[in-house]
Amino acid sequence: MKYLGIAASAGIGIGQIVKIEEHSIEYEARNVEDTQAELERYAKAVERFCEKTLQMSAQVRKRGGEKDAEILEGHNVMLEGMQDNIEDAIRDGSCAEAAVDMTCDFFISVFLSAPEELTRQRAADVKDIKTRMLKILLGIEDVDISGVEPGTVILAKELTPSMTAGIIKDNVAGIITEQGGITSHSAILARALEIPAVLSMKSAFEMLEDKQTVIVDGTNGEVIVAPTDEDIDLYTVRRREYLEAKKALGKYIGRSTQTAEGRCFELVANIGNPNDVKQVLENDAEGVGLFRTEFLFMDRDKMPDEEEQFEAYKKVAVDLKGRPVIVRTLDVGGDKQIPYFEMPKEENPFMGYRAVRFCLDKASEVYRPQLRALLRASAYGNIKIMVPMVTCVDELRAVKKILSEIMDELEREDIPFNRNIEVGVMIETPAAVLIADILATEADFFSIGTNDLIGYTMAADRGNSKVSYLYSQYNPAVLRAIEHVIACAKNENVPVGMCGEAAADPSLIPLWISFGLTEFSVNPASVLRTRKIISEWTTAKANEISLAVMNAQTRDEVVEILKNAEN
Ligand code: PEP
Ligand code: MG
Repeated sequence: MKYLGIAASAGIGIGQIVKIEEHSIEYEARNVEDTQAELERYAKAVERFCEKTLQMSAQVRKRGGEKDAEILEGHNVMLEGMQDNIEDAIRDGSCAEAAVDMTCDFFISVFLSAPEELTRQRAADVKDIKTRMLKILLGIEDVDISGVEPGTVILAKELTPSMTAGIIKDNVAGIITEQGGITSHSAILARALEIPAVLSMKSAFEMLEDKQTVIVDGTNGEVIVAPTDEDIDLYTVRRREYLEAKKALGKYIGRSTQTAEGRCFELVANIGNPNDVKQVLENDAEGVGLFRTEFLFMDRDKMPDEEEQFEAYKKVAVDLKGRPVIVRTLDVGGDKQIPYFEMPKEENPFMGYRAVRFCLDKASEVYRPQLRALLRASAYGNIKIMVPMVTCVDELRAVKKILSEIMDELEREDIPFNRNIEVGVMIETPAAVLIADILATEADFFSIGTNDLIGYTMAADRGNSKVSYLYSQYNPAVLRAIEHVIACAKNENVPVGMCGEAAADPSLIPLWISFGLTEFSVNPASVLRTRKIISEWTTAKANEISLAVMNAQTRDEVVEILKNAEN
């Protein structure tokens, strides 16, 4: 039986479930008479808390988790920050448990109501502090993950830094949680330790039993429960292949991205939030070719203001240390709905009020703050701006006009920015393909968004099973569109990248080489494989394949030619 969750950390793990359940923390709130004695009891607990924090952070640091160690050490500082409130509550007659409980709850609600995502995340830390302090006060033993047997698949509601401090990577085959998204602590931890993980698996706690065998496919976000012998054999082979391939790709770190005869390409990565830069650098991408800023706007009650966006863009620019980052302005609408924008219900949202259309309409509330934040951040690194869903050159002109107004504003305010910032467009609609020659005279770069371009070119929604057979990058219509766009860009000497999933399709890479794509932007996990495949082709061989493919008449013919292609 296969269950789906979020693919949070790649790889395959096979093992037995160990449920990690927090002991319930229950106490009876009492009124204390001897407040002095209660204050001393509290002070002892704080001492124990701080000692344990340092022990845990030392363990975490030893296994290379610098960031987690810092988060844990921050708990001591945060507890100190709440100390006065807690002690006041004890002086007013609360027992130490109730004083900690109330004070932490107060700070949790304050943090949760903050507009900035980063501040809201602090609420999870206060929850962790509260649990740890109550456990110390009540004498409850900690959950100890360090003792799990080799081949364990950890199942938890969510993993906290303190829970995982003693984790022994080699004993944990996989992680499954019921909560948490791609940027949660559980996800960050799993990726840092390279443990396959599937998060947000619904009702996992009810459904799975201790000691049950499961397969965790962290690459595809799948959990196979009660696997058959054939499942185990299949996934054992896949696991071995995954590990061998990963190891072999390590030799491409530090190499330039070039064909066998030495023709160079730019190989960059796609990200959704500033923390992803870590994976970009670990996988040796040469920068970021697509920062999907809509993720900064999702899962919250109101949009991030200019300041919060500025911090996010600046962080990416600084962390990339001069490597380029193409930031795509807000691409909402269609399949990306953001409730607080209250976008009208549409008959046909994919062809409606979305992306640049929405942003230009909401210029003062939505677009200007984003463009201002981007321009301000441009003083701190190599930021480029990309406009999504362009269908006519007027849209690009309108964006540039707003940018130029903001530049004048910033100049008057004496705020630094890069006046020569590059402004490019996504080519993801047939209209943009057809006017690529016009766009090339006004855009500083192109990036081909094959995910949408395939759908719009074929007029087929990939989510509609009746027509999904049409949604394929191997269709001659799609390949011709891409060839045309690249030719138009070359004509005007405009750099042309591809940031849709097709950029990392191994069988199509020779075509992109032959057409003259200049930049590949792929998921961080696909960077080294893409570099390897590019290195295996010569332009001459790629041209041969491309010629044959472009003479094919059907998708099946294209697939057949690519299947038999040899470099
Ligand atoms: C695309 O359409 O190819 C693309 C990269 O954008 P998104 O997947 O975010 O729509
Ligand atoms: Mg798109």
